Amino acid sequence: LFGNEEHKIVMVGLDNAGKTTILYQFLMNEVVHTSPTIGSNVEEVVWKNIHFIMWDLGGQQSLRAAWSTYYTNTEFIIMVIDSTDRERLGVIREELYSMLNHEELSKANVLVYANKQDLKGSMTAAEISRQLDLTSIKKHQWHIQSCCALTGEGLYQGLEWIVGRLK
Ligand code: GDP
Repeated sequence: LFGNEEHKIVMVGLDNAGKTTILYQFLMNEVVHTSPTIGSNVEEVVWKNIHFIMWDLGGQQSLRAAWSTYYTNTEFIIMVIDSTDRERLGVIREELYSMLNHEELSKANVLVYANKQDLKGSMTAAEISRQLDLTSIKKHQWHIQSCCALTGEGLYQGLEWIVGRLK
C-alpha cells in the first residue's frame, strides 16, 4: 500500500452511508490530490499510491454503464453501509452482487464497512453479513468490518485487511 505501486480502490455506498467521512479520515494530514470532477457523481482522490474512486449508488441507475469504465484494474471494492439503514439493505445487496458479477471486477476483493456503529439500533456486522449473504461469495475474498467513521474506530482494521491482500 505504501510502496511504489499504484493501487485502485473503488468505494461505493448509498448516499449518507459515510463515504466522504471515511475518506476524510484516511486523508487527514495528507496532501490530497482531487481530480477535476470526472463526473457529477464520481470522484477520484489520490492518497499515497492509492487511487480512490468513489461514488453514490443511490438513484443513479442511468449512470451505471458509465461507472463500469472506472472498474478497470480495481483491486478492492469498499462498500460503505449505514448500519441503521435497514430499509435499503436490499438495494445494497443488489448493487454488491451486480458489481461482483462484472467482468472487470472479477479479481476484486471486497471490504464492507458496517458504519455508524455508535448509533442506537444499528445492525451488527454479523446481521449485515447475514442479510447480504456474504458467505455465498466464493470467487472474491471479502471481509466485513464494524466502524464509526466519526471517530475513525475500525477504519484502520479494515485498511489492514486490504494491505494483507495486496499482491
Ligand atoms: P456519504 O454521502 O456516503 O459521503 O456520507 P457522509 O460521509 O457525507 O456522511 C453522511 C452523514 O452521516 C454525515 O452527517 C456524517 O457526519 C454522518 N456519519 C458518517 N459516519 C458516521 C458514523 O460513524 N456515526 C454517525 N453517528 N454519523 C456518521
